[in-house]
Amino acid sequence: MSAANDVAQAVEGTLCRVKAAAEKGKRTTLPRLVAVSKTKPNESLQCAYDAGLRTFGENYVQEIIEKAPLLPADIEWHFIGHLQSNKIKKLLEGVPNLAMVETVHSVKVANKLNQTVADLGRPPLGVMVQVNTSGEESKNGIEPKDVNGLAKHIHEECKSLKLAGLMTIGMPDYTSRPENFLALLQCRNEVCKELGLEPDTLEVSMGMSGDFEQAIEMGSTNVRVGSAIFGARDYSK
Ligand SMILES: *Cc1c(COP(=O)(O)O)cnc(C)c1O
Repeated sequence: MSAANDVAQAVEGTLCRVKAAAEKGKRTTLPRLVAVSKTKPNESLQCAYDAGLRTFGENYVQEIIEKAPLLPADIEWHFIGHLQSNKIKKLLEGVPNLAMVETVHSVKVANKLNQTVADLGRPPLGVMVQVNTSGEESKNGIEPKDVNGLAKHIHEECKSLKLAGLMTIGMPDYTSRPENFLALLQCRNEVCKELGLEPDTLEVSMGMSGDFEQAIEMGSTNVRVGSAIFGARDYSK
């Protein structure tokens, strides 16, 4: 079987699993499926596009700015990697159809994004606050206790950004993911209260290949699925 068929079938299979999980969780709207394409060649992304997907996620600024111009313009790109403020201009200039930055983890990054969007005269950019729900010492987002402050800053001070929701990666360890997901849902409740928003007006981005069904049952509105669609990543190349 060709690689194109593999990706097309995997897309179909993943969409079925998304729907089934949404039904099982009695969800009234389907979550967005973000095809996480880091390290994968554009031919594979094109196959997923041809199979119907329109939202793609990338982790590295250099990689996304090389890929995006060669792929259809109606793709909605999500940036899901660690974002340094000195790369923001390059990211925004290189990807006119960037729809969301899921990994805002500081006031500094929020301000720089806001300023750059304004400078480029772009429409407001969707952003999510990345929350470190696992307590790991890492670059994986801000502490739950600091989420309200950052969300409020974006909502009230960053007129060129639109606070779309919260995102988490969670522990690599499968068994603790439900706790990470619960922690993210809790953060969303608090942010909505703080900002005076209805509870489900903010999104939660949680769930990857190994656990997206569980995440959907728990309420995820945005799952980021890589290897289940494109196959395992080979970093040795
Ligand atoms: C790579 C990555 C994913 C996708 O992981 P899979 O396990 O391949 O589905 C999702 N989210 C983030 C932030 C990632 O870096």
